[in-house]
Order: sequence, then structure tokens, then C-alpha cells
Amino acid sequence: MLLSIKTKLKLSKTQEIIMCKHAGIARFAYNWGLARQQLYKDGLKPNKYILKKFFNNHVKPEFTWIKEKGICQKITQYAFDNLGDSFSQFFSGKGGYPNFKKKGRHDSFTIDASGKPICVGGKSIKLPTIGWVKTFEGLPHTTCKSITISRTADSWFLAFAYEQSYQPTVKKHEVVGVDLGIKQLATLSTGVVFSHPRHYKKHLEKLCRLSQKFARKVNGSNNKYKTKIHLARHHAKVANLRKNTLHQITTYLCKNHAKIVVEDLNVSGLLANHKLAQVIADCGFYEFQRQLEYKAKKFGCEIIIASRWFPSSKTCSNCGHIQDMPLKERVYNCSSCKHSIDRDLNASINLSRLAKA
Ligand SMILES: [Zn+2]
Repeated sequence: MLLSIKTKLKLSKTQEIIMCKHAGIARFAYNWGLARQQLYKDGLKPNKYILKKFFNNHVKPEFTWIKEKGICQKITQYAFDNLGDSFSQFFSGKGGYPNFKKKGRHDSFTIDASGKPICVGGKSIKLPTIGWVKTFEGLPHTTCKSITISRTADSWFLAFAYEQSYQPTVKKHEVVGVDLGIKQLATLSTGVVFSHPRHYKKHLEKLCRLSQKFARKVNGSNNKYKTKIHLARHHAKVANLRKNTLHQITTYLCKNHAKIVVEDLNVSGLLANHKLAQVIADCGFYEFQRQLEYKAKKFGCEIIIASRWFPSSKTCSNCGHIQDMPLKERVYNCSSCKHSIDRDLNASINLSRLAKA
């Protein structure tokens, strides 16, 4: 199966400048291609091959800075592939009309070694043309076909996809039900609870303060620019914190359980309830499902999605009685059998039974 990895680069100032140059050229090629939109208006579907050929034969020779020494010449090809993908999305109705890329926003470029595999592993990688770069995190020893380098705030990242063999694990539990919630991030029917990441609320409050500060600064001022970087950096920090927490949960689930039952969260329905909206968006439930799916393949387990109409919170896990459970009630007190149990644990036990049914 194909896995992907994205990790932060440890660059020198000189290397940062080289990355900026590459991203600039990729952006130039993308925008140049997009500006040829007259072709599309004339009824021709975008053809990246024609664009590539024209660009290489007629545009590149005029702009000598593209052919500067130390610049990987693959990046313009990938920029056109990227543009082609944007247009395919647009024509299939999945995305809007492609926009021009702006400097400093989603800066990125892709390189390869002309079809030869690129070796990765450990904390340094030799990039084609660019040379050795370091990473903070050790990478798995493997090979990949291409590498994408991108910038978020003032940090640079490297991403690639690699093939990994299937490695099923021995499971401790046959079945587990997972209740995703507001109070606790995840409650498992086995009694294990995953809380929200520590200091998460504080980080969110800081994020709020920073964006207010950003809005107050004069447009175009140096201070506004500084706050922008600060804000973007903090955004990335919060996003990372959230992602790491989700990774911990999904890895634990897939490594230790053969069957995992989760709710199909009717997100649009929940978002209509304003009080829930922020938390749902923050917890990244889509990301949760995405991680579960690929880890299920990796560790060999089955994911069962419960219907959104399944009354997991309202059913008594002891006797099967169904009663209303307003959100503020944290404990399920069964009016039929007098069973008393934590609301989320009750829901997760009900979910786990779906696998056995
Ligand atoms: Zn009961």
C-alpha cells in the first residue's frame, strides 16, 4: 500500500533562498499556463503536453533565470501537471476555476530524478540537483519517485509517497466501539478514554487574540507582516497538535482491535447546531476517518460505520431501553432498569454491539 509522509526541513539561509527560487519558477510556469486560458475559451480542453512543449521551446529560452545553475528543470513540468489537475477538477465539477498563484501563499514545487528512485532514510536526504538537506525527524529507509517541497508560514516541508508492505498486528480485543464527543475526544467501549490535547484551549485562545491583533494592524505595514507570520506559525502549531492526537488514537485503535465501530457523523446536521460547530471543526472528524481507513489497511482490521440514525446515546447498554438524552446530561440513568453509566461509555458499548450483531 502507498503511504505518504510530510516532515519539516532544517534548512540553512542559502538553502531557503534556493527553495524560494524553485517555488517562484513553479509559480511562474503555473501562472503562465493559466494565462493561456484563451485556448480553453476557444473550445480546446487544456492539454498540459502542448503547454509543456511550447513552454520548453519558446518561453524558457527567453527567461534565462529559469535555467540558472542549481535549479532543477523538472519543476516546470510538475507545475503543468498541477495545473492540469486543477483543470480536471474544474471540468469534473469538483473544484472552481483555477486561480493564479500568489507569492507566499501555498508556495510549493515537485522534483524527481528523471524516473530513477530517490533514496530516503534517516535525517538527511539528497535531493536531485539541489543536494543534501536535513530533516528534524528521522525518515523510514525507503525510496520514492518524486518529492514535493512546500512552505507553511516560514517553515519548509518535504513530502513524498512510498510503498509499504502490509503488516497486520496481533489484536488484544476483538471488537471496540468508539464514541467521539465534545467532553472527551474519544471514549472506547473497553473503558479507554482519550482526552483533548493538553493546553489545547489555551492555544485556541491565543489564536483568537493573534487574529484580532492581525486585523487591527495597518494594511501593508511591516508590523502587519510580522503578525501574519506569527499567526500562521501558531495556526500550524494548533493543527499539528490536533493531528498528532488523532494519530495517537487511530494507531492505538487499529493496532489493538480487530473490528472498530464508529459513528457516521452527520456533520452537516451537527454543524447546524452552532454550539457544536467549533468543536466538530476543531477535532477534524474527517481527518479521523481518513486516518482510520488507511491504518486499517496497514494493520489489518475492519472498520464498521454505524448508521447516523443508530440511537447510540439514547439506548441503555444494560437493558436496551430507549430514552431521550439531552446533550447536557453526562450520565445515562436508565428509567427502566435503573442502570447508571457515563453517557459516552454507554454510547461506545452500544456501538461495539453492532459488530457482533
Ligand atoms: Zn436499562
